[in-house]
Amino acid sequence: MDNATGGPFRLAVVEYAEHIADLVGNTPLVRLNSLTKGLKPLVLAKVEYLNPGGSVKDRIALRMIEAAEAAGELRPGGTIVEPTSGNTGVGLAMVAQRKGYQCVFVCPDKVSEDKRNVLKAYGARVVVCPTAVPPEHPDSYYNVSDRLVREIEGAWKPNQYANPQNPESHYHSTGPELWTQTGGKITHFVAGVGTGGTISGTGRYLKEVSDGAVQVVGADPEGSVYSGGSGRPYLVEGVGEDFWPDTYDRGIADEIIPVSDADSFQVTRRLALEEGLLVGGSCGMAVAAALKLAERLTEDDVVVVLLPDGGRGYLTKVFNDTWMSSYGFLPPDSSGATVADVL
Ligand code: PMP
Repeated sequence: MDNATGGPFRLAVVEYAEHIADLVGNTPLVRLNSLTKGLKPLVLAKVEYLNPGGSVKDRIALRMIEAAEAAGELRPGGTIVEPTSGNTGVGLAMVAQRKGYQCVFVCPDKVSEDKRNVLKAYGARVVVCPTAVPPEHPDSYYNVSDRLVREIEGAWKPNQYANPQNPESHYHSTGPELWTQTGGKITHFVAGVGTGGTISGTGRYLKEVSDGAVQVVGADPEGSVYSGGSGRPYLVEGVGEDFWPDTYDRGIADEIIPVSDADSFQVTRRLALEEGLLVGGSCGMAVAAALKLAERLTEDDVVVVLLPDGGRGYLTKVFNDTWMSSYGFLPPDSSGATVADVL
């Protein structure tokens, strides 16, 4: 081979991104092999922890910020104020770093120090509010974030639960990616529902492009409003609600499958053990729903399940045997191994 045929002597092209935030999206699909044994359809996972901030929320952060800039709501030197302790905060902080904005995140005191430190590492300021006060109390999570927005000069609140750019980001990125990656062969899309942005935006795109052929299936923690509950507490994080957010389009999902905490966490652990995917508890929940769905499908079906984030943020919970045992998700004697156990 020579230069002309593009062989090894070709002049090197230096490939790089201008900034880490330019690498949001275009996450890969990977086949689930072990968990799907005995099932007929091809089941693929969309691995969102490979986004640069580590979750699907990088997508909405980028689009919400750029839309606010275009609308003049966020101006140079402005401050982003959002009540969030998790993935949305990381996405916002990463994009803010690139664009020179400040970030102030408000979170309840039950949020772990590790999570707060991640946000601080990106340069955000974190205001901690007491959990044990009613919503109308001046120190409540809601009131503090509203007050900061009013009082900080140049403040802008993305409000992921009501911002139409949340579902729009999925309509313009996640949906088209899935259609292209599957060559239009996707028949079912499964996602957990939190704000509802992922399922509403991705689902709407897939329905439109397939003339309604793609079935959209939500996964929801048992007890949450989306599967007919009242918001009864559950332990899986990032999904389920006790109210109906504006970002959730009630007309998109063909079906909602409720999943128990026990099933969510068992499948989460199996994803790491059997598939090499260290992911968060809402991923196990979505996969548990996808497996239930796949039981009634055929070889002609292609199911894609979206995995929102990675498992490192859950090492003291889902991946901790003592924590799992304390909730009855593992037998009490299962924590730890002695040298004798492994010899
Ligand atoms: N899983 C995790 C870990 C999340 O943080 C979120 C976002 N709240 C979801 C699932 C649900 O995504 P969405 O808000 O788009 O419904």
